[in-house]
Order: sequence, then C-alpha cells, then structure tokens
Amino acid sequence: MRIGHGYDVHRLVPGRKLILGGVDIPHHLGLLGHSDADVLAHALMDALLGAAALGDIGQHFPDKDPAYSGADSLVLLGKVMDLLAQKGWRVENADMTILAQKPKLMPHIPQMRQNLSRVMGVPVTAISVKATTEEGLGFTGTEQGIAAHAVVLIEALEKA
Ligand code: MG
Repeated sequence: MRIGHGYDVHRLVPGRKLILGGVDIPHHLGLLGHSDADVLAHALMDALLGAAALGDIGQHFPDKDPAYSGADSLVLLGKVMDLLAQKGWRVENADMTILAQKPKLMPHIPQMRQNLSRVMGVPVTAISVKATTEEGLGFTGTEQGIAAHAVVLIEALEKA
C-alpha cells in the first residue's frame, strides 16, 4: 500500500466558471487557470501521482501546452487513473478537503463525489469530499482563491 497527498490553489476572478469536482457551481467568481482550473480534481491527481511516485500534473499536463487549454480536468483525471492502472495500482480510497469562504459547497458535494467516483472507477462510498472555510483568514478567507487538499491510498493490483 502507498499513501499520497496533493495540494492545489487557484485564483478567484470574475468572468470564469467555478468548477469543482466536475460540478459547474453558480457563483459570481470563478477559478483562473489554463485548464478548467478544477482545483479539487488537480489536488486529487497530484495525490494519485504522488502515491505512485509518478511526478505531478505539471509534468504530465504542462500548462504551456495548448492541448490542455480549457481542458476538462475530469478527462485528465481519467488519464491519471489509466497511468496508475498501467503501473499496477488500484485506488482504495480518497479523502479531500476544499478550502473556500464562498459559495456554500455542501449542496454540490454529492455530485462531486459521483463524478469523481465514475471517472476513477472507485465506489462512491470510498470517495470523500469535505469543505471548510478558513474563518475569513488568509487568501481563501478573503475570497482571493480556493485551495484543495487530497489524500489517497493505493494498492498494488493482485497479480493473476
Ligand atoms: Mg491546478
């Protein structure tokens, strides 16, 4: 078994979508980035790659590469899962925390879990997404950005 941790931050700006865990959340600000800037999916991918010691998403999907301009991060997550499977790993569970002052994320969490579960091929009961504010403190508290942490456990696939 291996454990992995991922962390990511994106800046909140007007005129962009707010996509978290593949859910398009209505809000007057959205996340800035080369891809769809799904900070939750990015933290999760880095945790998966980290657990398998396969680098990070910047290496696999460079933000200078026009191929990933506006990319759907769930498609990239699917590619990371394929890579782990090729290397002989399966995912046992994932636990994630989103740090955001606004908007209220609770109503959207079931759909985020469903999306991540579907793309990862892992039961939704093994995919945890939580959200917290940072009490008005720091860059998340002042709504300059949103951060996410992810922790995953992976296991070597049984050899047939
Ligand atoms: Mg990112």
